[in-house]
Amino acid sequence: MKIGIVGLGLIGGSLGLDFRQRGHEVWGVTRRTTTCEAAIAGGAVDHASTELQTLKATDIVFLCTPIHLIEAIALELIPHLSPTTVLTDVGSVKGAIVDTLSAHWPNFVGGHPMAGKSEVGIAVAETGLFAQRAYVITPTEQTPPPAVALLTELAESLQAQVFSCSPAVHDRAVAWISHLPVMVSSSLIQACLSEPDDAVRQLAQQFASSGFRDTSRVGGGHPELGLMMARYNREEVLRSLQAYQDALQQLTERIQGAEWEAVAEILSTNYAARPDFIQSAPAPDTATS
Ligand code: NAP
Repeated sequence: MKIGIVGLGLIGGSLGLDFRQRGHEVWGVTRRTTTCEAAIAGGAVDHASTELQTLKATDIVFLCTPIHLIEAIALELIPHLSPTTVLTDVGSVKGAIVDTLSAHWPNFVGGHPMAGKSEVGIAVAETGLFAQRAYVITPTEQTPPPAVALLTELAESLQAQVFSCSPAVHDRAVAWISHLPVMVSSSLIQACLSEPDDAVRQLAQQFASSGFRDTSRVGGGHPELGLMMARYNREEVLRSLQAYQDALQQLTERIQGAEWEAVAEILSTNYAARPDFIQSAPAPDTATS
């Protein structure tokens, strides 16, 4: 199969590496010629260019640029595509993208491979990134079944676990387990920086160990990803932040009131609930989304 990938960074490059290993011919398009060269040298693509029209003979195109560029690039690409070409994207937010692109290209199906790292760019692309991770496909009632079937088949070939849900349900679910943690973790770092005594803050930095490394990891990652989550999934991020503030307020009041039994009950409930969220989670160093 001829597969096009626009945006040869972490996700686009990693898809290219896996698809080539499975015998597909991969055509990449990216912004910089230096990235084209790196993608060819690293084995992520068979052909690389900065020109979208080079993708005209592909069977499916994966849009793997930052979210804010996906719509504009799709509109530039569409005039070059054959009507049978399936268009998909890998953006971490689905509602805003799926509504717009489905209107422009009936053969569009949204997707979100839920794998990542704290670094970005072609240099950190790797094979097997999507194996045993969720790959969420977000068709609408109008999405042609063959487009969904093709994306499902390709995602399963990456050994990903494929889920299907509406764009709205996707955005609400990922707000809880991906976007809220980024905001909370980022605010944790910000709160630590508010320590007014320099000597205390420096000591805290020296004392910080695995607990702080775990809890600050997603909030201290690449700022662009968090910004895109807040901007493109604003409503669901605000909903989850409100629920988090309510939970924090409840815990604060119990501690203020020295209600230790109530504090213990909250902590016990959360201790029991955590395994349901992390039983299929990847190792700590590899996940952001
Ligand atoms: P990334 O490593 O920064 O890759 C994005 C690539 O897009 C860059 O390498 C850049 O290539 C290219 N690009 C920028 N502007 C372009 C343009 N005008 N035309 C063509 N290519 C352009 O970012 P990423 O982590 O792979 O994220 C890409 C997408 O994946 C985002 O939509 C994100 O929501 C989604 N996603 C990310 C993760 C994650 O954890 N990182 C997980 C799941 C989904 P040049 O080097 O040529 O400038």
